[in-house]
Formats: sequence, structure tokens, C-alpha cells
Amino acid sequence: MDAVGPDFSKGAAWMAGEIVPIADAKISVLDWGLTHSDITYDVVHVWDGVFFRMDDYLDRFFESIAKLHLDVPQTRSEMREILHAIVARSGLQRSYVSLVASRGVPGIPGSRDPRDCINHFYAWCVPFVWVFTEEMVARGVKLMVPDFVQRIAPEAVDPTAKNYHWGDFTQGLIAAKQAHYDNTVLVDTNGNVTEGPGFNIFMVKDGIVRTPRRGMLEGITRRTAIEMCAACGIECVEEDVLLAEMMEADEVFATTTGGGVVAVVQMNERVFSNGVAGPVTSQLSQLYWNWHEDPKFIQPVNYQVSG
Ligand code: PLP
Repeated sequence: MDAVGPDFSKGAAWMAGEIVPIADAKISVLDWGLTHSDITYDVVHVWDGVFFRMDDYLDRFFESIAKLHLDVPQTRSEMREILHAIVARSGLQRSYVSLVASRGVPGIPGSRDPRDCINHFYAWCVPFVWVFTEEMVARGVKLMVPDFVQRIAPEAVDPTAKNYHWGDFTQGLIAAKQAHYDNTVLVDTNGNVTEGPGFNIFMVKDGIVRTPRRGMLEGITRRTAIEMCAACGIECVEEDVLLAEMMEADEVFATTTGGGVVAVVQMNERVFSNGVAGPVTSQLSQLYWNWHEDPKFIQPVNYQVSG
């Protein structure tokens, strides 16, 4: 027995009933999750020792599992216990916690029939991941909207089932980084804004907030932003938003589990709100973190139970 014991400080994973250090978490090269992107996942976060809106993330995860015709044996309450156990084992106070359901490996070697695959669930946590670095959050994000790649059509891959089909985003990200932007946002075939890799997008014009209604993941942070608008008496509309309309915005912001409500100060050549966070963005951003102290939304991690 190792006197020091395994190191869980960089994260922990629950794999087939065992909690292992994140570096030891592995899946088969034959897993359809890997070979076909036939997988769904969700990400909940822990902030200062509490899970935020865990039940909403679990609802979405179970909806994604159903949409993909996956079937995993773990119940919702077992998953909840697993999430507490891995975070407790890691000791992390701020964590990015992922739940994954994969098609798995066919029980009949070489079978091409998805029904032969043994679906499986696993979960892992690592220190909190910022979708935009803290430096970008502080100064406001610059997004590139490339004209050579569109978001995968929702009729082809349902974006409301959270997925790893990120080939379009990755092409956008490479172009954005090469052109010294921070990140990318993609349009659909009609020129409507969709979403970016890990975030939803909103615009504010004449005091009215607008966000795309389709062709994107229905983010939990997006929902939180919509609810915060209602709580603040700000009108918020879910509807198609043309890129040309967003370019006329007074303010633009992104929403993500990996950082909350984040000001977007530039899209392509266009600079918004004089290059700093606008008033609506600042108000919602502040309220988002305040809601992390509201018992309605939080569940303290049970650090006593570590599996
Ligand atoms: N859109 C995509 C493609 C995402 O992957 C994510 C989150 O990872 C989001 C939007 C934002 O969703 P949420 O607020 O639930 O993090």
C-alpha cells in the first residue's frame, strides 16, 4: 500500500463503480462514444462548496439520454450521490463536474447495430474550468464569426442533446485564435446567430434582451439569465436573431456554466458598448453570482461522503 495514497487533487472520476484519480480514468478505444461521437454529457459546477442548480442539469442530462436512445443503469439519485462522492474525494471547492453517458462497446464484436452496444455512465470532476479565461472575463470577450463554417444544422444533430460534435466549433476556434480573437460564435444557414463552443449568446438593444431560440443548446446559464431578466423587470425575448441584427446591439453577452454572464465587447470588427461591459450585462453578471448564495438553487457538497 502506497503510504501517500493516490492523488485526487487534480480531479476524480467514477468509472464502473470505482473512484479513481482523474489521470487514471479511461474508456475503451472501441467505445462508440469515441469512434462515432455517440455520447451525451452534461456539466454542473461547484462554486465555493455548493452545487448550483444540480437538478436542472440532471433533468437536461436525462432528456439528452432519452433523445439519443441511450439507456444507463444508474438512477438519478445514484448519479447525485456519485457527483457528491467524486467532488468530496477531490476536495475541490470550485469544480467542473461532468456526467457522461456513452453508447459503449458492442457486446457482439464488430457489430454495427447500436442496439448491441453496452451503454455506460461515468462521471468526473476537475478544478473549475473557465470557458473564457479570467483575464478575458475582466476585459470583455472578442468573438470572431467566421464566414466559412456554419453550426451543424439542428435537423442533422440535435443541439439540445448536449454532444461532442464540435468539428464546426473547432474550425471556428482555430480561425479565431489565428486572427487574435478570443473565441468564436457560429451562424446557421439563414444567417441567424446560434451559439459558441460552450456558451449561449444574447444581445441588448434599447433595453430589450434577445437570444436565439433554436439551433443551440438550451443552456442552464441561458435559462438563469432569462429568469434573472424577469426578476429585474427586463424584457427578454427568445427568437431568431440575425447576425446583422446582433451587430447593431448596444450590448452583447455570453452565458456559460464555465463563468456565468460574460461581456462580449467585440464581434468581428464591431465594438460594443465602447469596449467595456454594458449596464445590463454587469447587472446580470453580478446577480448570477449572488444567486449562488440562494438556497433555492444550491446544494452543499457532502464532503463527508467520498464513496
Ligand atoms: N452551447 C454549447 C454548445 C455548450 O456546450 C454549452 C455548455 O457547455 C452551452 C451552450 C452553455 O450551456 P450551459 O449554460 O448549460 O453551460
